[in-house]
This record gives sequence, structure tokens and C-alpha cells, in this order.
Amino acid sequence: MSSTPNPVSSGGSSGGGGGGGSSGSGGGGPCGACKFLRRKCVPGCIFAPYFDSEQGAAHFAAVHKVFGASNVSKLLLHIPVHKRLDAVVTICYEAQARLRDPVYGCVAHIFALQQQEERLLVLIKDNSST
Ligand SMILES: [Zn+2]
Repeated sequence: MSSTPNPVSSGGSSGGGGGGGSSGSGGGGPCGACKFLRRKCVPGCIFAPYFDSEQGAAHFAAVHKVFGASNVSKLLLHIPVHKRLDAVVTICYEAQARLRDPVYGCVAHIFALQQQEERLLVLIKDNSST
């Protein structure tokens, strides 16, 4: 399969292209968020650039369960457009971590990394003192 651009896992702006705008949905149906919410995807839908109708729907399911669709859309509206992709990526990450670990969510990862850092710092000290 050719690599389809996946907005949720790949950073990097795919800017460029000459005017004309992106090749619209071509009647391809709703974005992943609207598909999941079973609503009509309107032009300018705030979720459409970030949730495609296949993988995006699964990602959005987690986001909706943890944060709620309307909260996320409000949050995105307060973020400059060029930073929204990063916000969506991290919101998806947080939501999936929270579903996996309802108590600690992604904080579990942070704690683990902090402990790892402490251990590594000790190792570095030991090495440099010999
Ligand atoms: Zn939509």
C-alpha cells in the first residue's frame, strides 16, 4: 500500500501545492469525528483536517470518551490553526493513555521517565567518578 498521510501520527506540515485549495472530500463522506458522532460533516468542520474517516474515527472515539467532543472543539478554537495538529496529537495520546490506565493516564509515563532519568543520572555520576 502506498503510505497514506496520517495526521495523527506524523508531524510535519504538508504545506505547499498551488492555490486551488486541497482536493475536497470528493463526496467521500464525513471526517472521522463526524462519522463517530453520526452527524453531518460540514465544510470547515474543525475536526476534519485531523481525523480521517477510517483511523480517525477510532482515535476520536477515545478522545470523545475522555474529554468530550464539544470540550475538544472549544479547546481547538482557542488554539492558532498552525498549532492545532500538535494539540490533536497530544490530546489523542492523553486520551488513549487515560483509557489504558484510568488512574494515572499519561502521568504514569511521566513518572516512569522521571525515575529512569534519576537512575541514569546516578549511572552517569558513577561512571564519571571512576
Ligand atoms: Zn467533520
